Amino acid sequence: MNVYFDNAATTKMSQVALDAMIPCLENVYANASSLHTPGQKSKEVLEKAREEIAACIGAQPNEIYFTSGGSEADNQAIVSAAKWGARRNKKHIISTAFEHHAVLHTLQKLEKEGYEVTYLDVHENGMVRLDELEAAIRPDTCLVTVMYANNEIGSIQPIAEIGAICKEKSVYFHTDAVQAVGHLPINVKEQNIDMMSASAHKFHGPKGIGFL
Ligand SMILES: *Cc1c(COP(=O)(O)O)cnc(C)c1O
Repeated sequence: MNVYFDNAATTKMSQVALDAMIPCLENVYANASSLHTPGQKSKEVLEKAREEIAACIGAQPNEIYFTSGGSEADNQAIVSAAKWGARRNKKHIISTAFEHHAVLHTLQKLEKEGYEVTYLDVHENGMVRLDELEAAIRPDTCLVTVMYANNEIGSIQPIAEIGAICKEKSVYFHTDAVQAVGHLPINVKEQNIDMMSASAHKFHGPKGIGFL
């Protein structure tokens, strides 16, 4: 018997996801921006997916951006906030030492472009300390990005509390929730999350799609 123990890296597709996808792959192929009937059918399916995802996380449908996966969602969130910051002379970002490479490599690229990044320690217990986060926020901080659940050691950060600090200080808060979606309750409003990354293949969906 084979037992697969690597679900934090990627998961097997569920039968439910396969059954939902196969008819779409077979029949719903038209461009959702086209005005003809097949195009409008694609749009209907797309908007239904957007509504269902939004309802799962307490967001509005028009806040959901589909991406190629978690990496692209992380990249898009961080780069967008950084560019927003640069226009306001806010080029400081706060993150943690143990983010996924999709976040760390994006931050390293921004550092080469003149941004400054503070990497919070996650200590022996794998947790960010709220007092250290609060102390790190500066007038030129444009973004805090802290992952929800860690992909290697599994520690779960106090996301709502981190979000509340960011909200109070008027700093955007992004969380890489790739390891949390489908496993932990998420409500982006109640947890003060401005931007959140997710990836289907981490919760029994297909590879190659995620959302911001
Ligand atoms: C897997 C993973 C990603 C990257 O997601 P992809 O969809 O594979 O690009 C980002 N962050 C975390 C925490 C992950 O576990």
